[in-house]
Amino acid sequence: METDVYDLVIRGGMLVDPERATVTPGNIGIRNGRIARIAPDELRGDRLIGAAGRIVCPGFIDSHAHIDGVQSGAELAALQGITTTVGGNCGGGPVDLAAFFGALEERGFPIHQAQFIGHSLSLRRRVGLDDPYLAATSQQIADMAELAEAAFRAGAGGLSLGLEYAPGSSFAEILSLSKMAARYGRPVAIHTRVLSKGDLDSLDEAFRIAEQSGAAVLVSHFVYQYGGGYMAKALAMVDRARQKGLPVAIDSGMYASFATHIGTPVFSEKAMAEFGWRPGDLLAATGPHRGRRLNAPLYHELRRHQPDTLIIWRGGDEREIALPLLRDYAMVSSDAGSSASGAAHEGHPQCAGNFPRFFRKLVREEGLLPLAQAVAKCTIVPARFLGLAHKGRLREGADADLVVFDSARIGDRAGFPGIGDPVAPPEGIDSVIVAGQTVVRDGRIIPGALPGKPLRAGM
Ligand SMILES: [Zn+2]
Repeated sequence: METDVYDLVIRGGMLVDPERATVTPGNIGIRNGRIARIAPDELRGDRLIGAAGRIVCPGFIDSHAHIDGVQSGAELAALQGITTTVGGNCGGGPVDLAAFFGALEERGFPIHQAQFIGHSLSLRRRVGLDDPYLAATSQQIADMAELAEAAFRAGAGGLSLGLEYAPGSSFAEILSLSKMAARYGRPVAIHTRVLSKGDLDSLDEAFRIAEQSGAAVLVSHFVYQYGGGYMAKALAMVDRARQKGLPVAIDSGMYASFATHIGTPVFSEKAMAEFGWRPGDLLAATGPHRGRRLNAPLYHELRRHQPDTLIIWRGGDEREIALPLLRDYAMVSSDAGSSASGAAHEGHPQCAGNFPRFFRKLVREEGLLPLAQAVAKCTIVPARFLGLAHKGRLREGADADLVVFDSARIGDRAGFPGIGDPVAPPEGIDSVIVAGQTVVRDGRIIPGALPGKPLRAGM
């Protein structure tokens, strides 16, 4: 006979079900890492989380990040309510995913980690193609395809392209790898090839990939690609592509200023001239010059001698942030890096502030999205796109990845280097539960709580 004492009970919260877009009072009983019962009546549990006056919803799925198995980045993610992070984005990340997932499983992780196989920085370099301005040879394409296939067999959740990091990539090269993703039923995430101001051909290229490969396409960090006066046009193009039946979606975040390394083609002299950027538009986010705007000598110095310095481009129009996120096919993403490891996107407030900022600004302050719809963009929308059948849902049988937060207080505190603290934790997020275990309590990480699993696609 089934006992009615659960491992963990969340009592008295307002439960947000993103599939039915409802908000109802209730209690959740968790057993063996799953949601075992959702009921209006009181449940008994070995452990109890009181959620009176709080929102309880599925944990956030961050469809675009660069945490890639790094503990410090995962802790910042958990603090903002993320229970599943997707890595290997923008064409980067580890290539040997069997080893990556195995090591992660062995040492444990605060949250779940899904992983794409990255083309532009990772596969290309692995086959000896170090020049980002060259196209791959047919032999190199075959070699990359073999590595990509091994990654898909090991559970890569998709392919990622970072076309601005390898502007020389040929269409044949990326199409052939995208076809491989389609054969495995996995999506292709594309950091599009925006090579000049307002370059919307880059978006057409992403649509052609969807059309000719058969893979679903996720256009990455949309506001970073199409901010600056082109947002309405770019979104209308995505609308039309979807009306034509193309499986295209977008992810986007809560900041207008993106971050990447100074040594990449994104900040080449040619690109700076094309986009009309000056060194003073660039803010150092890591290293000895952290918090400083660049000048011409420092720009050249860092390009030449410290190419891994993370730079935040301080442009963008804050008013364009909401537009992409209001589309029903949009999912919220952070573009967060691993923090304190020298890897991508460290030192940007998105690592600590993105999701709470979404709920603070777009839901509470600006009233642009009802709560259940906002939660859907962080949960069920990415879960469906990524094929995560048991995540992003508040129903019996779903994985017990949950967030408990105060909708009146949830908000970001992280700021840009030199102005604020880029890793300041948010407020208003009380508890975060991963696979039935609490990893954040009273807004703090519980040291040693490592219930997160590698999420191998197709297994
Ligand atoms: Zn990117």
